[in-house]
Amino acid sequence: MQSTTGQSKKTFAVATLGCKVNKYDSQVIIEQFQNNDLNIVDFSQRADIYIINTCTVTKKSNKESRRLIRNAFKKNSKARIIVTGCYAQNSPQEILRIEGVSLVINNKDKSRIFKEYQSFCQKKEKISLPRSNFHKTSLIKDFSQKSRAFVKIQDGCNQFCSYCIVPFVRGRSCSKPINDIQEEIDLLTAKGFKEIVLVGINLGQYGKDISSSIDLPKVIKKLCQHPKLYRLRLSSINIPDISEELIDLVAKDSKICKHLHIPLQSGSSFILKKMNRGYTSKEYEKLINYLKSRVPGIGITTDILVGFPGEEDVHFNETYELVKELKFSRTHIFRYSPRPYTKACLFLNKVPDKIKKQRSDTLKELSTQNMIYFMEKHKEERVKVLIEEYKPSLKLYFGYSSNYIRVGVRSLRTIVGKIIEVSVKEIKKDYMVGELLPSISILSSYLFCFFFE
Ligand code: SF4
Repeated sequence: MQSTTGQSKKTFAVATLGCKVNKYDSQVIIEQFQNNDLNIVDFSQRADIYIINTCTVTKKSNKESRRLIRNAFKKNSKARIIVTGCYAQNSPQEILRIEGVSLVINNKDKSRIFKEYQSFCQKKEKISLPRSNFHKTSLIKDFSQKSRAFVKIQDGCNQFCSYCIVPFVRGRSCSKPINDIQEEIDLLTAKGFKEIVLVGINLGQYGKDISSSIDLPKVIKKLCQHPKLYRLRLSSINIPDISEELIDLVAKDSKICKHLHIPLQSGSSFILKKMNRGYTSKEYEKLINYLKSRVPGIGITTDILVGFPGEEDVHFNETYELVKELKFSRTHIFRYSPRPYTKACLFLNKVPDKIKKQRSDTLKELSTQNMIYFMEKHKEERVKVLIEEYKPSLKLYFGYSSNYIRVGVRSLRTIVGKIIEVSVKEIKKDYMVGELLPSISILSSYLFCFFFE
């Protein structure tokens, strides 16, 4: 590939770890480098510049971040390796000691990463940038090869759960102005994205830093009026932030996906208090049952943290029983690991790794049973699926329904990026196989004949 000056274009590759917010941030980074005439290549390929957008939520995330840095160096020892994200924010000196790392950029400077790279190239010395005060990001216009795009509307967190390092590495909650969100959605819907996922570190805190009259339901209401927006999905939201107004919106507005991700973390009120989560297990249970009654068919997904210091069998059993009763459609299970600066680091009665693993395995089994139960309930239903990709090995197109069931469907024509109506029939491992409803399948057969006659 040649640049406009006739020289070969430089290439760059990006690897992203961690949450949806990090994935959004990576898109901001990609667009900065592309706008400066660099070519993106896959992270598995040789590149001139590697950018690793790291995570530090568990010890495992740090390890994986280091592995990616070493991989980049192995692929091209002359490449510029730039490391950013939460691990970079927390341990810049540790990262700078890894062979090949040229530049470490903290979270708040991600939005000007290309400029930092340019000034590094002039100075050519290993640097870790100091923290700046505010991280206003530029707006994205695209989202790497997906039919749904993430829009970050909030960053940082004020909650300080006792196990969580995030407030220390992402700072206090700050919200994107509503006009910027609207502009970003204009750009993405014009590009053909049918579903927008609103992402944030603690989405429910949206607006509180701007004005007491602005909150999440208000921004959702406004966005749902967008004429080209077909679907709006919310990422993770905590129980104390789920208001009656929000439930009403999810129940009544057809553009809002019937799916909420609501972290539980533990089914024991004793552990929840030690975690500083701000709710009891009873409050959680009550709200989920209420949500199910207000929004029939809603998919509720959750996170559980096992092996928190002081978690005895009796507390774990409370978690198990609650997960069994609430039948989440998907459950992400994490094992506790002490993170620097957090209160829980100092807590006594650490749970041995072997027990953490046993508890995690037990919950994983239950989580699979719950997922199957949820899919069984929706068998033979007609659902609308936004198709995201084609898997040649299975000869199926895949996408998600509004309530977040992964659905695979056969089609003779390319349907990536389309919303199609499907009757879901069969359960496979972690997805359902559906049949295209007549209008589409007849049309696709017709097109098939037309092309091959
Ligand atoms: S709500 Fe708790 S777990 Fe979530 S980012 Fe904030 S401190 Fe961490």
